[in-house]
Amino acid sequence: MVYFLPNRKTYFTELIKDLSLGCKRVHVKFRELAPICKSFVQDLQDRPKMVLNAFNVVASEIFHELKLANLRGILEHPIDERDQEYAKEMMEKIYTLRVVVEAVEPLLLLCNIRANKIGKLKKLDLIGKMVGFKGNVVRVGLPRPIVKTLEFSCDKCKAKQVLKFEEGKYSQPTKCIGFECRSRSFSAERQSENTVTYDSQRIRVQEILDDEDEYDAGRVPRVMDVEIETELVDVNPGDIAHVSGIIKVSPTEEVKFNKNDSTMFTLYVEGISIVSSKVLE
Ligand SMILES: [Zn+2]
Repeated sequence: MVYFLPNRKTYFTELIKDLSLGCKRVHVKFRELAPICKSFVQDLQDRPKMVLNAFNVVASEIFHELKLANLRGILEHPIDERDQEYAKEMMEKIYTLRVVVEAVEPLLLLCNIRANKIGKLKKLDLIGKMVGFKGNVVRVGLPRPIVKTLEFSCDKCKAKQVLKFEEGKYSQPTKCIGFECRSRSFSAERQSENTVTYDSQRIRVQEILDDEDEYDAGRVPRVMDVEIETELVDVNPGDIAHVSGIIKVSPTEEVKFNKNDSTMFTLYVEGISIVSSKVLE
């Protein structure tokens, strides 16, 4: 893979080597990552999902290699039976690692993200891109369960299929995958291990106004909603947070163009990380 030349692998190995076995995430500061990954900082910003997935694959591989080597060593020369049992049990507990990139830079101003143009970049150009911004946390919504994948079984032939939902948008299978089965009736298998759900929260972040600034004085501060997995939320109302995430168009609102050719739609951010500024200092 082009993205992972030896020095980057070393970097990830250093990050990962001390993680405990049951660990599922590794947190990386953008500022530390950027200098060793110069060639793909642009890709990370332009095609964040693809690059983050590549990070996850490489980090997971390294994690597995390190931990398996360790456990195999124990299995070959166990001190006693308990030691052997422990190693066997732990083999099952090496999870896929997820790389969480924190404090993405450069910092954009919320008023610029919301405005129609940022320099030569139009607001539409930002959709799907990764950005970083700071703001006051003014509201932390309650966790809601989101279905990521759901297994369905055909009511007639019992054939099973798994559907993946983007951003929690639910749908039903359109046809059965069973041989020559024409059934269109399916049941959701909620207990199946192929059915995956997670909790998500909506966090409202408000821009920080500068009272001294002529432009800011008396202006209504802009807000941005951040949709993020509950697992990753470690902020409270009143905190100043550094948000890293992907700009999205709210699925409930269509993109409309009015006669002045200006666009009207609601942007939100799919959160990659949200960190209290206190933690970053
Ligand atoms: Zn069927």
